[in-house]
Amino acid sequence: MKKYSPSEEVDFVVIGTGAAGGVMAKQLAQAGFSVVVMEQGPWGAYGHEQDYSKDELSNRFPAEDDMLLSDPKVQKNTFRRNANEKAVAGNHNYGCVVGGGTITYGASSWRHLPWEFDEASRFGTMTGTGIADWPVSYAELEPYYTQAEWEIGISGPNLKTPLIAPMSKPYPCAPLPLKSSGFLMQKAAAKLNLTVTPNVAAIITAPYNGRSACINCGMCSGYGCQVKARSSSAVALLPIAVATGNCEIRVHSYVREINVDASGKATGVTYFEKKNNNREVFQKAKCVVLSANGTETPRLLLLSKSNRFQNGLANSSGIVGKYLMSGNGGGASGLFPDPLNEYKGCVTGAAVLSYVPNDVKGRGWYGGGRMTARGQMSPIQYGLAGPHGAPSWGAGYKKALVEQANRRLTMVNFISQLPVETNTVDLDPDVKDAWGLAAMRITSTSHENDFKAMQFFIDKSVEILHAAGATEVWADQVSDSRGGAHARGTCRMGNDPKSSVVNKYHRAHDVPNLFVVDGSSFVTGGRNHPTMTISALAYRAADHLVKAAMTGNVTI
Ligand SMILES: Cc1cc2nc3c(=O)[nH]c(=O)nc-3n(C[C@H](O)[C@H](O)[C@H](O)COP(=O)(O)OP(=O)(O)OC[C@H]3O[C@@H](n4cnc5c(N)ncnc54)[C@H](O)[C@@H]3O)c2cc1C
Repeated sequence: MKKYSPSEEVDFVVIGTGAAGGVMAKQLAQAGFSVVVMEQGPWGAYGHEQDYSKDELSNRFPAEDDMLLSDPKVQKNTFRRNANEKAVAGNHNYGCVVGGGTITYGASSWRHLPWEFDEASRFGTMTGTGIADWPVSYAELEPYYTQAEWEIGISGPNLKTPLIAPMSKPYPCAPLPLKSSGFLMQKAAAKLNLTVTPNVAAIITAPYNGRSACINCGMCSGYGCQVKARSSSAVALLPIAVATGNCEIRVHSYVREINVDASGKATGVTYFEKKNNNREVFQKAKCVVLSANGTETPRLLLLSKSNRFQNGLANSSGIVGKYLMSGNGGGASGLFPDPLNEYKGCVTGAAVLSYVPNDVKGRGWYGGGRMTARGQMSPIQYGLAGPHGAPSWGAGYKKALVEQANRRLTMVNFISQLPVETNTVDLDPDVKDAWGLAAMRITSTSHENDFKAMQFFIDKSVEILHAAGATEVWADQVSDSRGGAHARGTCRMGNDPKSSVVNKYHRAHDVPNLFVVDGSSFVTGGRNHPTMTISALAYRAADHLVKAAMTGNVTI
C-alpha cells in the first residue's frame, strides 16, 4: 500500500472507512488523486476475512485488535432525554474498524422512495419538527443508486410496485432465499392482504466481482463475513482504492481536529497516532472529506473550534449536531408450533412493505415503516434475555430455553423518525473520552407523532404474528431511541447556509474545501434503512468533487 508522509500535502484526507468513506476513497483514488484515509479502529480481518471469529463469546468480548464496534468505555458517550436532565453514561456504538458499520451491519439496502426527498412540499410540515425538502431529488440520485448497487454488490427482487423506488436497472444479484420467517410472513400476508417481498441486501447470492456467494452460515449481523459475501466497504471498495497506488489507509489514527488557516480554509487534520503512544500528528491536505458517521461527524466539527470558528467548524448556522434521527423500532414476538431454524442464513429474509407509505388521514399519524421478522437472538444473547414467561434460572428456565429457542420469531420494524431540532449530538461538558476529549452527548426524545407510529407497528406486529400462526404473542413496550448505529441528520444539507451545514454537493457552506459526506447530511430520515442512500449520496458527491478537483478548484 502506498504510504504518504504527514508533512506531504496530499490531495484529500478522508476521515472514516465506512459506507461513505469507502466510496469517497475509491472514487478519488481512481481519479488519480492522492488520498489518506484515517480510521480510528484496527484493520480487523481486512484482507484475511476468513479469520473473522464466529464465536459468540469472543465476538462479544474481543481482543483489542479484533474489535468491530466502538466501545462505550473508550469512545465514551452520554445520554439524556432532554436539556433539563443531567446526561448519564450512554451505550451508543457504531462500527469502529476498517469498513466501519458495513463490517457487521444487517445489510438491508433499501433505496429511499422518490417522495422521501420532498416531504415538506408534498405533505406539509408539522409543528415541532424540521421537516424540509432535500436539495437533491430522487431523479438526480437514481443513477448513483444504480452505480452503488452494481459496484458494491446488492441482491434483491425485481418487483414493480409503488412500494419500492423505481429503478433504471435491476439488482445485480437474485434475492437471498426466504427463510421460515419469510414463508410465515407470506402466510400472514395472504390473510391480511399485505405485500411481502424478499429483503434487499448488500449480500451477494452468486459469485460477484471476485467474491463468493453467501453460504448461509447464520453468524451474520454483528459478525464479520468470512467469505466476503457481505458487501462491506472493506471488501467491495477499499481494496480497489488501495490497488490504484494512490490511497493509504491509516489505522489506529483518531482524528481530534480539522485544522484551518487564517482564511478559513481546511489545511489538514490532527490525529492521535496509536503506534507512537498516541502522539499528535498533523496530516497536511488540500481538501478534507469528513465521513465519520452521523454522530462522530458533528462531534468532530464541534471539537474543531478555533478563534475563527468559535462555535465549532462549519457551524455558522448553529445547527451542527441538531436534528439527530437515530432510529426508532418497536415490534412483538411470538412462539410457533414448529421449529423455524432461523439461526441459518442472513438476519432478514423478507420484509413487509405495506406500511411504508404515509397514510396520515387513515392512521392519524405521519410516517411509515418497513417490517421484518427474525429469529433475532444468538445463543448467549437469548440465554441472557431469557425465554418468555419462564423462571429466570433452574430447571424451568432450561426447559423453556430448549422449547422456545428454535420456535421464536420477533418482528423488528424500521420506522420513520421526524427531525426535531432539540434532538442533538453535542459535547458533554463533564465527561471525557479515552483521549481526554469531550465525550459525545446525545439528547433525544422522539416527536409525539413518532410514539403513535411505534404503537401502530407494535399492534400490527401482534396482528401479523397471530395471522402467521403464532400460538403465543407478546408485544414490546413503546420506547424511543437512545442513540444507535442508524444516526442521520446532524449536518443537514440545503441551499440556505442559515438553515443547513452543507450544500447539495456536501461542501460545507462555511469552509470551501471541507466536504461532509455520510448520514449526517440527511434532511429527513426515510424509513430507517440509511446505508444505501448514504452510498448513493457519496457516489454523487465524489462525482462532483472529482470534476471540480480536476479543474484545480474544489470550490465550484
Ligand atoms: C449491527 C449493525 C446493523 C446494521 N444494520 C443495518 C442495515 O441492515 N441497514 C442499514 O441501512 N444500516 C444498518 N446499519 C447502519 C450502518 O452500519 C450505517 O448506516 C453505515 O455504516 C454508516 O456509514 P458511514 O460511512 O456514515 O459511517 P460508519 O460506517 O460508521 O463509518 C465511520 C467510520 O469512521 C471512523 N471514525 C469515526 N470518527 C473518527 C475519528 N475521529 N477519527 C478516525 N476515524 C473515525 C469509525 O471508526 C468508522 O469506522 C447497521 C449498523 C450496525 C452496527
